[in-house]
Amino acid sequence: MKTVIISNRLPVKIIEENDEYTFIPSEGGLATGLGDVYKTGNAIWVGWPGIEVPLERQEEVKQKLAQLNLYPVFLTQNEINLYYEGFSNEVLWPVFHYLVTYAHYEQSYWDCYKSVNEKFAKSAMQVLNHRDKIWIQDYQLLLLPGILRQKLISATIGFFQHIPFPSYEIFRLIPWREEILNGLIGADLIGFHTYDDVRHFLSTATRLLPIHSSSNILSSNERQIVVEAFPMGIDFEKFSNLAQTHEVKKEMDYFRSGKDEVKIILSIDRLDYSKGILERLKALELLLQMHPEYIGKVALFMIVVPSRDTVQQYSDLRDQIDQFVGNLNARYRSMDWIPVNYFYRSFPIEMLSALYSSADICLVTPMRDGMNLVSKEYVASRNNEDGVLILSEMAGASKELTDALLVNPNNLGDIMEAIVVALQMPLEEQQRRMIAMRAIVEKFNVKHWVNNFILRLNEVKDSQKSLLT
Ligand code: UDP
Repeated sequence: MKTVIISNRLPVKIIEENDEYTFIPSEGGLATGLGDVYKTGNAIWVGWPGIEVPLERQEEVKQKLAQLNLYPVFLTQNEINLYYEGFSNEVLWPVFHYLVTYAHYEQSYWDCYKSVNEKFAKSAMQVLNHRDKIWIQDYQLLLLPGILRQKLISATIGFFQHIPFPSYEIFRLIPWREEILNGLIGADLIGFHTYDDVRHFLSTATRLLPIHSSSNILSSNERQIVVEAFPMGIDFEKFSNLAQTHEVKKEMDYFRSGKDEVKIILSIDRLDYSKGILERLKALELLLQMHPEYIGKVALFMIVVPSRDTVQQYSDLRDQIDQFVGNLNARYRSMDWIPVNYFYRSFPIEMLSALYSSADICLVTPMRDGMNLVSKEYVASRNNEDGVLILSEMAGASKELTDALLVNPNNLGDIMEAIVVALQMPLEEQQRRMIAMRAIVEKFNVKHWVNNFILRLNEVKDSQKSLLT
């Protein structure tokens, strides 16, 4: 009996050089959390390798990936366009983040989403047997639990969604809502980051499908499906240890030199309209207007990691950020200071660690976010137990990190005031809050998250069996 993880992307980086593919395992949160499961050698991961592989080279790629316990699902560029960029990112992503006006309900997106979910099932069946434990990840594969259930009636299937689940009023706007729910309830255990997501899912499922719920259990065709919150953690030790390395300390010294009189505010996001990047900039502008005493005394270091910028809404957002930053800096800068240091690129983890460790304040204000790992990485990096986290109430992480300064990201005055409170916060209060948050991030780390989910999946299956006997 093995564990089979299925996600849209395999955890590998591909290097294509001189007509040769090289695959390097990439250390995402999930891959790290699964470390222990993998060490037993009794696990395999199924997913798209990240590039279009010509038919004649697919066997070679399959063999190379097999050495890493990975099994590929080969997708064409057209499938990536319609299933991934289309249905996943232009329908599910905006609707699940409550930005319904950004959704494009294209029939061709949906048709391809269905056929690619079928394709994942077909590939997975090559490695699955009916006693395996299957753990499906995220919103690109909502139909997969149902498809696999039909093929393997008694299989153990878990599903975890990494993005929010919206309220019924939002979800019911999707033209293919019942099919999506029917896909999901093929699982035995459905996990979300927060209890609010669980509530939304339960009420949506019972209103749209002929099933009923009792507490957090759905009953359909004599099969019970448990729906629960599993807030995802990070690799605490990795971030805490990294911040103590010589390399990171050198980066920190370099970064902080000449900035003794300036308080550093850090923000790190992927380019996305759900992240509230413009609102954050507007809150900074408000601060400089209402509290001119901070001009020259605070600086925002804002990292935006390029993402999905072939999609119109993303490139528009990028243009708006460029404009806002240019305008704000031009108005407020002096010869030796600028309010916003804006980077549109990604950074190596050592540099991120140096920034997390150096910043007096970390400003995380998404409009909506399933969890938000940046906030937890900041906390884990603060070995000195100082620093202030300002966190949006709309991020899943706010349910755990209650010692952050919590703000409504739509309320610019609220964000501005939180920045002022953070700038003036006495060290003892910073430490009291940071110690409490570090204890939570350390305890509920990513390994805990993985083990907890798998343990619960086993329990759910066992209790189903005992119901049948
Ligand atoms: N990140 C990265 N390179 C960068 C900046 C950020 O790999 O240059 C990582 C960051 O460390 C974090 C992730 O990107 O683990 C962002 O995760 P989060 O949950 O905050 O947001 P998401 O992008 O998943 O919506």
